Amino acid sequence: MSESTVRIGLVLPDVMGTYGDNGNALILRQRLRMRGLAAEIVEITLADPVPDSLDVYTLGGAEDSAQRLATRHLARYPGLQKAAERGAPVLAICAAIQVLGHWYETSAGERVDGISMLDVTTSPQPTRSIGEVITRPLLDGLTQPLTGFENHRGGTTLGSAAAALGRVTHGVGNGVGDGLEGVVQGSVISTYMHGPVLARNPELADLLLARATGVDALAPLPLDEVDRLRRERLAVGR
Ligand code: GLN
Repeated sequence: MSESTVRIGLVLPDVMGTYGDNGNALILRQRLRMRGLAAEIVEITLADPVPDSLDVYTLGGAEDSAQRLATRHLARYPGLQKAAERGAPVLAICAAIQVLGHWYETSAGERVDGISMLDVTTSPQPTRSIGEVITRPLLDGLTQPLTGFENHRGGTTLGSAAAALGRVTHGVGNGVGDGLEGVVQGSVISTYMHGPVLARNPELADLLLARATGVDALAPLPLDEVDRLRRERLAVGR
């Protein structure tokens, strides 16, 4: 590995990574390689402490019991928290929003302390939110609608330090009736969107990569197949 290799942390894929969310790390690596940049994925499992030295981190969704194991590990080894404090970009999907918040309640009604990287709390909603979700992005640097697949029982309420990633135009999103989806706080971008979300939304992938590599913006890649998939998914909202 050379000094300039971009190191992508895939955090706890052994317990978090439903619906192909581990693919987000693959997308980041591939988009770097297609631009001639060296990149590698560093898998951090329950057997490893969490390093604070990586360039970008991704965390996927999980079922309630797996989510609890991840929460305990991230609290015990606070590398992710330290990395975010120095500005390393973090992408957190679904259950990971809940784990990174102050606390979440499981479907069984048990309250679990999170790691308080995000000013949010999560409680189970009467019905599970399942299906396609489309939003209008609220984050500077994103111009295209975001699309993904959601499947969660938890509904997430944003505190004053947290902003939403998007406004819902189709589907449910954070699920507490405010029409918002995802959470942005500091260097953390989180969303209920599976997909994996970075395969569906190349602009979001490149925003994370620009931040990880310290450039203003990256030139788009000619990926026709992604465009075709995007058109198909956006049509769901019409
Ligand atoms: N267990 C969480 C919920 O149902 C998260 C689910 C997920 O990550 N897909 O809200």
